[in-house]
Amino acid sequence: METKNNRAATAADQAVSALEAKNLSAGYDDHNVFENMNLDLRKNEILCLIGHNGAGKSTLLKVLFGLQPYSAGEVLLNGQHIVPSPSDMAGHGISYVPEGRGVFPGLTVKENFALALWSAKMTGSVADERVDEVLGVLPKLKDFWTRKAGQLSGGQQQMVSIGRAMLCKPSILLLDEPSIGLAPKLFQDLLEPIRAVQKQRGMSILLVEQQVGEALNVSDRVVVMKSGEIIYRGVPADFEGDHAKLMEMF
Ligand code: ADP
Ligand code: MG
Repeated sequence: METKNNRAATAADQAVSALEAKNLSAGYDDHNVFENMNLDLRKNEILCLIGHNGAGKSTLLKVLFGLQPYSAGEVLLNGQHIVPSPSDMAGHGISYVPEGRGVFPGLTVKENFALALWSAKMTGSVADERVDEVLGVLPKLKDFWTRKAGQLSGGQQQMVSIGRAMLCKPSILLLDEPSIGLAPKLFQDLLEPIRAVQKQRGMSILLVEQQVGEALNVSDRVVVMKSGEIIYRGVPADFEGDHAKLMEMF
């Protein structure tokens, strides 16, 4: 049930995509991983992108964040054509959490956060407020705040990585397989507060996953990618109680 703090998706939200790939082609060297890819992440939704290993999910996320070039098509941000670059995308309020966490193992959690704040040029009371807010969303971070990130469990590192991405109050979050190495329960515990803040703030999240059960629990829509093509677009209810049906698709 929506509480009054939760911002329900409106018709206007649905009308304009937050981030859209339009007829996009991209790949490596002389082969395209996908061609004519169309995907729209709407305002105020979690869109779950699932697919087998090598389907092209990470490539698509990298292209959307500007880490990887594309050879044809276009990217639209709030309906406007853009050529993504990581610094511009960050400036537009987009955060990207790559596969494999990417924390600095020799630094404490606090230092990992400080580095992110520094690179986003956030200082003083603004920085303190941002940290307080993220610790409010993910309070378990406080339990290992002064420990070295490299000494934390996979789930704890994933929490650091997502928490760090939330520091700049993103309007769009691109999450690449945050479940890797996590038990389903831990993954669920990580996703629930993210879902809560997404609803409260009206964020858009593109969640790339293979652990479908937990991901679908927090998603509004689902798309399935197979060998560089979107083969299914629907909603989690399409697979209610029958995730095997979904897994068989890819
Ligand atoms: P997914 O995230 O769905 O597992 P990827 O986007 O990582 O898939 O990979 C899509 C395809 O691109 C795979 O065939 C993979 O081998 C290839 N690929 C990924 N990264 C590179 C790279 N840096 N250089 C060359 N080929 C790559
Ligand atoms: Mg991947």
